[in-house]
Amino acid sequence: MAEDVKDAALIAAYDGVVCDLDGVVYRGDDPVPDAPKALRDLRTRGVQVIYATNNASRVVAEVAEHLAGLGAPATPDDVVTSAEAGAAQLARSLPAGARVLALGGEGVAEALTRAGLEPVRPRDRGDDAGPNRVAAVLQGLGRDLTVWDFETAARLLGTGLPWVATNDDATLPLPWGQAPGNGAYVDLLVTALGRRPDVVGKPHPPLYRLALDHLGTDASRTLAIGDRLATDIDGAAAAGLDSAWVLTGVDLPSDLMQTQATPTYVIGSLTDLFRPYAAPVEKHGSWHCGSARARFADGELRLDAGGASPVEAVRAGVAALLGEREAGRSPDELSHAAEVVLNRLL
Ligand SMILES: [Mg+2]
Repeated sequence: MAEDVKDAALIAAYDGVVCDLDGVVYRGDDPVPDAPKALRDLRTRGVQVIYATNNASRVVAEVAEHLAGLGAPATPDDVVTSAEAGAAQLARSLPAGARVLALGGEGVAEALTRAGLEPVRPRDRGDDAGPNRVAAVLQGLGRDLTVWDFETAARLLGTGLPWVATNDDATLPLPWGQAPGNGAYVDLLVTALGRRPDVVGKPHPPLYRLALDHLGTDASRTLAIGDRLATDIDGAAAAGLDSAWVLTGVDLPSDLMQTQATPTYVIGSLTDLFRPYAAPVEKHGSWHCGSARARFADGELRLDAGGASPVEAVRAGVAALLGEREAGRSPDELSHAAEVVLNRLL
């Protein structure tokens, strides 16, 4: 954490932001309250913003249009997807114009075209998708893919062609719940073929590296913001970036106890970027944040919010529980303590 964070807005220590989308800017069809305004305010302050998403199915123009429609500043150049990171990785090792099987949706094919490669769809039957005519396979989510498409990919990958997967998220959140994500479809081929692809999306570093390339900012002055611990926060650490875990999405304090993730900051919303960051401090076995005080004793989290804001109380409680996690206490016990005391503050 940079030195000047204590005395100024949290964001004063950074020149650029890599921002996750779902759970940070929007949830389903609706914007996260105040998030579009906070993103506009970042631009006004001169902080550069790039949106980075593991979702490979949408083309960047569609993502940018969605964001702009919610009031967040975004053009297609402000968006990077895991499909683009995958296409960029292939473009580094293949000749310009090389043909690549696009095992995915429109976002995968478009990313290949933008990277100077030629996408070939599995359903382009005949020689077009034959092993002599295709140099690699890029696999991303495509909800119209068929069994036949996976058989075509298996035939090609069986010959040892390079194989890049956009991301390995096991699930895809839909309005009714969790559908199989790209990782589940990757595993289908892994099971059949006995080999694994290179994966470029979060938590793997290539997508963050592509985002940094677009921003042109130094990694030490770039903040990654996300709601998922195992992808956004672990991925930021793997790429050498500070991270802000924002509590407007899927993961809750209780989830933190089941991971090894350690976010640099815990924020209640993007608006907290413009406030000084009150970091939790340990005093005599208790953790203090603002006027909140927390300690773990007898299997329970004792929290005295003392008039602190909810996010400060959460920070104090999380710090107390992370201390126990470090000491090797049972994740289930810590999750339960976090669930009954901290999750309800949000
Ligand atoms: Mg998210």
